[in-house]
Amino acid sequence: MLIDTHGRIATDLRVSLTDRCNLRCTYCMPEEGLAWLARPRLLTDDEVVRLVRIAVTDLGVTQVRFTGGEPLLRPGLAGIVARCAELTPRPELSLTTNGIGLARTAGALREAGLDRVNVSLDTLRPDRFKALTRRDRHREVLAGLTAAREAGLEPVKVNSVLMREINDDEPAELLAWAVRHGYHLRFIEQMPLDAQHGWQREQMVTAAEILRKLAACFSLTPERRGQRGSAPAERWLVDGGPATVGVIASVTRPFCRACDRTRLTADGQVRNCLFAREETDLRTALRSGASDKEVAALWRAATLGKKAGSGLDDPSFLQPPRPMSAIGG
Ligand code: SAM
Ligand code: SF4
Repeated sequence: MLIDTHGRIATDLRVSLTDRCNLRCTYCMPEEGLAWLARPRLLTDDEVVRLVRIAVTDLGVTQVRFTGGEPLLRPGLAGIVARCAELTPRPELSLTTNGIGLARTAGALREAGLDRVNVSLDTLRPDRFKALTRRDRHREVLAGLTAAREAGLEPVKVNSVLMREINDDEPAELLAWAVRHGYHLRFIEQMPLDAQHGWQREQMVTAAEILRKLAACFSLTPERRGQRGSAPAERWLVDGGPATVGVIASVTRPFCRACDRTRLTADGQVRNCLFAREETDLRTALRSGASDKEVAALWRAATLGKKAGSGLDDPSFLQPPRPMSAIGG
């Protein structure tokens, strides 16, 4: 098991497959100038699959989510998924993507064994999409969403980040659209993980504000009163259900106490928290001939030192050196 000194057990593994991306979301990446990881430092497909196997067979991981950067840019993605789907016990396999390219790949990924997708989309308006992501590719994301649903990658979840004076007037519109299409919408509070260190707490659109705006248009009732479990999203039934909406209030209502995550970066570093400032190097261990047992021991030790909380509310909080796109969101 991956257990820490606070008694939390990590069963949910996030694997970043690349730090590269075809969008430049303003809350994540700068327009230009972000250096990519050098290719030789990236884990190969075989190394990714080996680490996932160790996590699943030796360390109790039951869910694996591929992310990035943009994971659909990884040429070997379908092969990695297929090999992970053959593991025993079979982990649940999901993908977080910006949706670009999904229209072409959803069917093959489903066949390879992918169970679900989360597609990130912050606005329904193409001009706003262009301002937010610095790319004119809104239509491709919508096509990707449709393809995901048609391929049976369900429930299709949509992640939205709201930005002050850019799309903070859109939550109700986004929810009406998601309900109409059967997508499960979740709003994520903007976190201090952008490469350009531009996050400002006062500018952030809070969960309370999002809920206020939604409540003006929908009746919201807590889905499971007081039972959030390890799920980061607090969920509400929309107009009595069955549709729901989630809010991930990582900043204003952190869920660290129930966190069940462990993370692997594209260059083979284990991170026990999104906000951790330390990493444990599994790539060097793999490449210097470590056995599965030795790798598992390193991973366990990395988990043990997980801090109780993200430290976001501590005045001494320092943003981690790696941005979200390199950690794997
Ligand atoms: N490129 C893929 C995508 O956008 O879905 C996967 C990686 S992205 C880093 C994963 C998620 O992190 C996305 O839903 C994105 O909106 C979110 N994200 C990125 N930067 C963020 C930030 N500073 N605060 C909150 N969420 C952020
Ligand atoms: Fe790329 Fe995802 Fe970051 Fe947007 S949030 S720049 S799509 S990695």
